[in-house]
Amino acid sequence: MSELAMIPAAKPIIGDEEREAVDRVMRSGMVAQGPEVAAFEQEFADQMVGGRTCVAVNSGTSGLHLGLLAAGVGPGDEVIVPSFTFAATANSVALTGATPVFADIEPDTFNLDPESVRAAITDNTAAIMPVHLYGHPADMTALQEIADDAGVQIFEDAAQAHGAQYAGAPVGSFGTFAMFSLYPTKNMTSGEGGMVACEDEDIARGIRLLRNQGMEQQYANEIVGLNNRMTDIHAAIGRVQLTKVGAWTAQRQENAAWLDANLAGVVVPPVREGCTHVYHQYTIRLAGASGAERDTVVTALREEHKVGCGVYYPIPNHELVSLHRFAPAHELPETARAAAEVISLPVHPSLSQEDLERIATAVNTVVGAGA
Ligand SMILES: *Cc1c(COP(=O)(O)O)cnc(C)c1O
Repeated sequence: MSELAMIPAAKPIIGDEEREAVDRVMRSGMVAQGPEVAAFEQEFADQMVGGRTCVAVNSGTSGLHLGLLAAGVGPGDEVIVPSFTFAATANSVALTGATPVFADIEPDTFNLDPESVRAAITDNTAAIMPVHLYGHPADMTALQEIADDAGVQIFEDAAQAHGAQYAGAPVGSFGTFAMFSLYPTKNMTSGEGGMVACEDEDIARGIRLLRNQGMEQQYANEIVGLNNRMTDIHAAIGRVQLTKVGAWTAQRQENAAWLDANLAGVVVPPVREGCTHVYHQYTIRLAGASGAERDTVVTALREEHKVGCGVYYPIPNHELVSLHRFAPAHELPETARAAAEVISLPVHPSLSQEDLERIATAVNTVVGAGA
């Protein structure tokens, strides 16, 4: 066993084409935001979000932050978000001066529970911001209905869900804006980066101004803004990755189907009818486990079987020191249960058949042994 190599939990794939693209930009002598970014925005729009206008920024978090600001969210507003997600979701809301309001999740898909969202609506609600967690779309029909009833906006955190579909439409084509992260461990990368898909030209222009000190014409600053621009170096990487992400997603889905068929004694991730799951993470549940019991399984998988696995996310956002002041007065029972039970197994496109067999044997052995 000690000679086994660790199967990594995630593995960014950077090939010769990406290296050549970076070299091409470096040789051009123009490395800041320019023609590569413009081309990347257009190609991402056409391939990923049905032609919605896309604006590139320097991270997914920046994309959320600027999208919220461009949509007019600020002090006094409430934005309903899941607590079972990466902290960037609620952080971006809090940074605008608005209040993140945490709702509970559905037990099957780990995404925002529409009933919990409906109960969280107040006169101050400005928007609902679902996360398509692990690459599985949130229940957009139900959330849209609630948003329409309340007269509030939808913003999508699609950081983990490049190419996922809901009822035949791509994620990123529902909200006022949608953010895709291009961080190295996401389904595609630009090194660091984010892409914002916009419902209309007003939002797109607002984000373009905010990412560039409020300028459209140089030195004619119209609004107060930031420097959240993407560089042409990063865009060149992203453009190459965009040509590969479809095949990688198909491989993730194949790996997931194999794991579905070969794992025993755990709850495998369901796919809602009408949805495609792009398996940013392949997340199982140890039903009824405490966090400590789950952690024992994770340690055995890593140390005895050399299976790199992760827990996303062990601490709900509303229990973090940074966000605790926004904790709701009531419990979020499904959020608490998921945080104790989940384990994400490797599903990335570089896995071999031998890797998959090692992962299944490891899980079935460790869980079967009642660890
Ligand atoms: C990765 C991620 C983000 C932030 O994206 P960055 O590119 O890392 O800034 C936001 N929300 C979710 C759900 C994420 O997974």
